[in-house]
Amino acid sequence: MKKITIAIDGFSSCGKSTMAKDLAREIGYIYIDSGAMYRAVTLYCLENGLFLADGQIDTGRLEREMDHIRISFRLNPETGRPDTCLNGQNVEDRIRTMEVSARVSPVAALPFVRQALVAQQQEMGREKGIVMDGRDIGTTVFPDAELKVFVTASPEIRARRRYDELKAKGQPADYADILANVKQRDDIDQHRAVSPLRRADDALLLDNGEMSIAEQKEWLLEQYRRIIKE
Ligand code: C5P
Repeated sequence: MKKITIAIDGFSSCGKSTMAKDLAREIGYIYIDSGAMYRAVTLYCLENGLFLADGQIDTGRLEREMDHIRISFRLNPETGRPDTCLNGQNVEDRIRTMEVSARVSPVAALPFVRQALVAQQQEMGREKGIVMDGRDIGTTVFPDAELKVFVTASPEIRARRRYDELKAKGQPADYADILANVKQRDDIDQHRAVSPLRRADDALLLDNGEMSIAEQKEWLLEQYRRIIKE
């Protein structure tokens, strides 16, 4: 069967990753969470003192150290999903904290960070058979992807989902803080100079605010089957 490239973009915490992971597992494709890669670079900055006292990023140092930041994914046999590794260390839980969420968008706006990660992402998708989710996958990383989806839902619904997710993991969560973070990231992601978040002209729009996970999964699978038949 022909292999295609599937790009799933959209706002933060709108359930892209869940849909993308489930689809990849169902059809035997590789799944890559590109947001996890930006989060891993942010964690590196936090753990290596690259955030200065005023909260700014030491961009000179980060640019010099980019070549030493190795991000990979390792299948977790318990969850059946890929865990993110930073220089060989499993950081899956550490990249999902509010501290990282609060700092990731300015890191992801740096052109040299995007250049390095986009090159890695394109390399991962060279042989197709990949589902990648993020903000610029259909516009910049894989502009020729056969299936592109742009997912959205209201900030309140997305903040509620993120809150429930953190609570379920036993992590501290405050709804108002999360909502503010979701809105702030939307704003930075949409207005940055390099690869801002936007729907590719040929992307299908999915507002999943009122959909269950099972319904989204079915919808995505239908789109995949349709493209594969063409
Ligand atoms: O998808 P997730 O919310 O984990 O992504 C974290 C952050 O990484 C986003 O808010 C965005 O700033 C950045 N990102 C990006 N480009 C991508 C994926 C994520 O700029 N392709």
